[in-house]
Amino acid sequence: MNVPFLDLKTINARHAAELKAAAARVIDSGWYVLGEEVKAFESEFGAWVGSPHCVGTSDGLSALILALRGWKELGLLKDGDAVAVPANTYIASILAITENRLRPVLVEPDEDTCNLGAAKLAAALTPDVKAVLAVHLYGQLADMQAISKLCRERGLLLLEDAAQSHGAQIDGVKAGAWGDAAAFSFYPGKNLGALGDAGALTCKDAKLAAIVRALRNYGSHEKYKNLVQGPNDRLDELQAALLRVKLKYIDADNARRREIAARYLREIKHPYVHLPSVRTGQDSHVWHLFVVRVPDRAAFQQRLLDRGVHTAIHYPIAPHHQQAYAQLLGHLKLPLTEALHREVVSLPVSPVMTDEQVACVIAASLSAP
Ligand SMILES: *Cc1c(COP(=O)(O)O)cnc(C)c1O
Repeated sequence: MNVPFLDLKTINARHAAELKAAAARVIDSGWYVLGEEVKAFESEFGAWVGSPHCVGTSDGLSALILALRGWKELGLLKDGDAVAVPANTYIASILAITENRLRPVLVEPDEDTCNLGAAKLAAALTPDVKAVLAVHLYGQLADMQAISKLCRERGLLLLEDAAQSHGAQIDGVKAGAWGDAAAFSFYPGKNLGALGDAGALTCKDAKLAAIVRALRNYGSHEKYKNLVQGPNDRLDELQAALLRVKLKYIDADNARRREIAARYLREIKHPYVHLPSVRTGQDSHVWHLFVVRVPDRAAFQQRLLDRGVHTAIHYPIAPHHQQAYAQLLGHLKLPLTEALHREVVSLPVSPVMTDEQVACVIAASLSAP
């Protein structure tokens, strides 16, 4: 049996007729950038998240960058301010901070969830820290009850990186509705994936939404009038129309991911395979990735591959060990983050996996010596 890590072709083939009709609608409309499809997607996605404002962007990184940039334009952050962020995140979270001439303060995650936790965050809060970037890594909400309480008490801005966690929720409050603002990615492999690059910002403050709406479009708030100097980070009509189709199926897709993860958690019982833990109820996780820790990763991956099971690593190199951050962060010693980057392996989990494929992943994982 062959179990691909991610099969985008099969994922989108389920909706081929609807996706093609949506694409045809855009092609025939003669309007391709910032039009009715983007407006409709923003309102549908914002309502689904439970956030009052939603602004489409070209990708997830630009949504992160523009959220922080918007706060700078509003006078809430300034050059050199520090932003606390989990050290084991995907590098895009940190790029958004440095791109804005802000300073990343890397915080070790909690060992059980691999997410930012309130205790280590509180210990890292110096007076320079003005904002927190909480990442819901692998699809599980960070401890947002405690983190948002801490941010309120200390007067800190709270940004969520929700690129991996569309639909994760605690007490009915979804990723993207906890913080002052949140950034989503709709990169094709995410739980809600476009057929190209796309992203969105959700936020509570109408002023932030307005400035980000201008920023994504050269800083223009009215045609031919530029409020601020902005990039071109627009979401296009075609991706918005395709995302409106995919949005109808995200809840069912997440439910299937949870079913697969529940089987892995029940059936992969092996002394060398350290399973992920779910902190608060099964709704808090949407299993963008099912990440296990193993002592000998290369051998484990090879054993699975011999049985047709393809795995991936999220991520092999910690951000502070990247060449790009050698000068700024290279001196840091972050033992837990470094151990995670040595030991993590992602097992396949996707809404189109068959029960036979799931069983195959389980059997292969149990074949460890
Ligand atoms: C995918 C991802 C991003 C970046 O999104 P893009 O759309 O690829 O720019 C940011 N943060 C995290 C945690 C991600 O997984």
